[in-house]
Amino acid sequence: MYPSLKGKVVAVTGASSGLGKAIAQRFAAEGAKVVVNYLTEDDKPDLVIEEIKANGGEASKIQGDVSQEHDVKRIVQFAVETYGTLDVMVNNAGIQAEIPTEELTLESWNKVIQTNLTGAFLGSREAVRHMLDHNIKGSIINMSSVHQQIPWPHFAHYAASKGGIKLLTETLALEYASSGIRVNNIAPGAIDTPINAEKFADPEAKKDVIDLIPMGYIGKPEEIAACVVWLASSEASYVTGITLYADGGMTKYPSFQAGKG
Ligand code: NAD
Repeated sequence: MYPSLKGKVVAVTGASSGLGKAIAQRFAAEGAKVVVNYLTEDDKPDLVIEEIKANGGEASKIQGDVSQEHDVKRIVQFAVETYGTLDVMVNNAGIQAEIPTEELTLESWNKVIQTNLTGAFLGSREAVRHMLDHNIKGSIINMSSVHQQIPWPHFAHYAASKGGIKLLTETLALEYASSGIRVNNIAPGAIDTPINAEKFADPEAKKDVIDLIPMGYIGKPEEIAACVVWLASSEASYVTGITLYADGGMTKYPSFQAGKG
């Protein structure tokens, strides 16, 4: 547990499922006031709010598309109007789609870049504006992927968006370090969330993924949420501009395991 998170105001984008949901739940368990952003009611954001409240936590929901400037402004405004400020911004919302690059339309490219990369930019910028205006030594955490490092054929737009997030994070970390605003990045490997549900429903495809993970299992959303709360807490007070890989060793050349190579 991180006592420094008690009472902090945290906004999490894409928080109605998968990693965002686990992150929202963990912050609430730490005593933070959580703004749960969601895209559509189909995502059932009320379930997340109900679960948090049933466990004694505090949370409110707001619809918003992170690729839209106006919506991201609304999300930050909502946090300030509801809970008085914003201390932590988690830019988690993201999408992916498998498309060979020769078939990748500009529309599909733009959709992924605008959600994953532009969404992280807008969320970071709005959070920084609030933090600078109110002298808040806040924390911004972006959700990248091992694919900011590992090239991924058929996912060129996704890999490009995550590569962009890496340098966005590092640049903002440097730009706002002297203001006490920390900006960090998390790079999950393969985690059991709805984004992978179809793939992991196929036992062979799931085994192919597990074979790429030295620790030998698909990660759990809670294992990513644990990284996020640590980065947001005062325990990470001297940490900025990093990518924290939470990938079971996936980026450590698994094909060299057991003395191969
Ligand atoms: P998920 O599909 O369960 O969650 C993504 C959430 O983002 C959904 O709730 C969705 O509604 C929301 N979203 C999508 N577009 C949005 C938009 N325009 N505005 C607001 N919300 C939007 O998947 P997840 O695995 O929880 O993914 C969360 C993040 O983690 C993504 O950025 C993803 O790229 C990243 N990631 C996931 C994995 C993994 O293995 N699950 C690995 C690496 C990185």
